[in-house]
Amino acid sequence: MPPLPKRKTSKGRRDRRRSHLALKPQNLTECPNCHNLYVPHRVCPNCGYYNGEQVFEIKESKKSK
Ligand SMILES: [Zn+2]
Repeated sequence: MPPLPKRKTSKGRRDRRRSHLALKPQNLTECPNCHNLYVPHRVCPNCGYYNGEQVFEIKESKKSK
């Protein structure tokens, strides 16, 4: 006999298993320099500041997609 499940997983059991699969929304913090929302422990994409110093220069003439 092939190794197969003995019983079909019921809808209730399947759904209970998937109750932990939901993704939580990404945690965002406000930049102390420009008050833009950014991912914590990353350089702010709006002003290029991290930990009070400028890490990279921002090109002002950015075309929005
Ligand atoms: Zn910023």
